[in-house]
Amino acid sequence: RAKSMGRNNYQYFTPEMDVAAHRRISMEYKLRKAIEAQEFELFYQPLVHIQSGHILGAEALIRWRCEGKLISPAEFIPLAEESALILPLGDWVLRTAAHQAKLWQDAGHDLTMSVNISSRQFSGADLAVTLREVLLDTELRPGRLYFEITESMLMGDVSKAETTLLNLREAGGTFFLDDFGTGYSSLSYLKRLPIDGLKIDRSFIKDITDDSDSRAIVAAIVSMARTLNLRIVAEGVETQAQRGLLASMGPIVLQGYLASRPVPAQDFEALLSRDALLPPLVI
Ligand code: C2E
Ligand code: MG
Ligand code: MG
Ligand code: MG
Repeated sequence: RAKSMGRNNYQYFTPEMDVAAHRRISMEYKLRKAIEAQEFELFYQPLVHIQSGHILGAEALIRWRCEGKLISPAEFIPLAEESALILPLGDWVLRTAAHQAKLWQDAGHDLTMSVNISSRQFSGADLAVTLREVLLDTELRPGRLYFEITESMLMGDVSKAETTLLNLREAGGTFFLDDFGTGYSSLSYLKRLPIDGLKIDRSFIKDITDDSDSRAIVAAIVSMARTLNLRIVAEGVETQAQRGLLASMGPIVLQGYLASRPVPAQDFEALLSRDALLPPLVI
């Protein structure tokens, strides 16, 4: 492979690959610099009680403030994952989110804090160690720190995934499957693996009021999750009509622009000072 011949040797690449490779290396370089310069911020999006509209927790979502502009994680998380920069970045996210949760806990708010975990982080050996350390440092109440993982991380070697999950659970982690329904959706592992909840993907919620198939899928996921004793979050809820339909299906936690977009920590505090983010639902 050309790579083994050194960084400046691209003789086996086509011109298009050359451009792509250069772009990647330059992005990687920028990311590395950004980590050193601490150009990352966490935004927080509330998770709310569907009926009362009260805030139950927050999901931490990373942003990169690059030359005054906010860059979305979709643009750099995949690259960070490929280059292993996700490890220091993910570590920073976990520590920062837990520290923020601690500040809010000390201010009298009993909230959960959800953190997205990448595949490399999940299979790495350090996560359980960091988690123990963070929980010891912050004295967060038990069960308040949620890890969001994806179905693909559990596929392949299910026994290995099970061991990882059990280790992390012993360290104090709680697990939600993010973007549920978009992955491989082999349901057998849901029974076998120590998963605590599901986040139904936004793509199903989006059409729930107009499309009977989406509605049926969501209803089926909800009923299955309840049977398996899993908690359920609906992501991407944008309308009151979607909220009403979801509420009729069972005890679902709501996340989406209807309640709030992801916001900086300070703005989240303003949300916390309100009694509820949504008017109570009367069914
Ligand atoms: P996700 O974990 O599924 O996060 C939900 C995404 O949906 C967020 O996008 C959020 O802003 C967006 N969203 C929430 N409610 C609504 C809504 O009502 N309508 C619409 N249209 N969108 C909504 P965001 O913040 O751009 O994050 C994108 C993805 O990047 C996340 O998807 C997650 O997979 C990844 N990500 C974000 N932060 C981190 C992180 O700290 N670590 C890792 N590994 N991945 C992260
Ligand atoms: Mg997530
Ligand atoms: Mg999600
Ligand atoms: Mg998603």
